[in-house]
Amino acid sequence: MRTLSLFRRAQSASANLAILAAFVMAGCGGTAPSTPAPQTTGQLPPAATAITIPTLPAPSSATPSLILATPPPVPAGASTAACQKPAALTPAVTEGPYFKANSPERTSLLEADMSGAPLTLTGYVFTADCQPVANALLDFWQANAQGQYDNAGYTLRGHQYTDAAGRYHLDTLVPGLYPGRTEHIHVKVQAPNGPLLTTQLFFPGSTENQSDQFYDPALLIHVQSSGSQMQATFDFVVSAP
Ligand code: FE
Repeated sequence: MRTLSLFRRAQSASANLAILAAFVMAGCGGTAPSTPAPQTTGQLPPAATAITIPTLPAPSSATPSLILATPPPVPAGASTAACQKPAALTPAVTEGPYFKANSPERTSLLEADMSGAPLTLTGYVFTADCQPVANALLDFWQANAQGQYDNAGYTLRGHQYTDAAGRYHLDTLVPGLYPGRTEHIHVKVQAPNGPLLTTQLFFPGSTENQSDQFYDPALLIHVQSSGSQMQATFDFVVSAP
């Protein structure tokens, strides 16, 4: 993928080496260490390529709301017809060591002065019989464009709930690589009163996919456009009571 390859070239080798010690043993997909994950300062490294984010919504209350006050717009081309019965349940993938509970509720993980390639990810949460799931929880977390997690704060972490039509909308960045892992976004998905699915999403065209032990082509996002603003979709299929 052109965006990924361009972005990957923008990453400095020195930055990767600097974080190697922190990540090589833990390897986000690997077994969680018995000691706390490496702490960061919460400050993102200097921007390699600054992006401009014109409007940043203020994080909402820390108290989750089950219903979005203003449902996001319907993504272009999105349709419940994309679900084919019986739909296969979205595969689970290991949580890794960097999940943090109590992420803020927000649909945008973007903050001022972040560097990286913007990504808008949209889609539905369905049941296996293709019924959209309203008020399903989605809790996303990911590395920044330099391949680093914020384990001290909640940068690039946030949860949200599907709207009445079962849709979600996430504004974020394409995550960076870190040792042993291809680009990926972690997510937990749960229908109301249903079992919790923990999985990861992957990016088509990444040369690191095939060497990542956790890569699953069933978890590839579907890229609609990959210019300066990557637009992609992914529909989750989960068990529901
Ligand atoms: Fe990870």
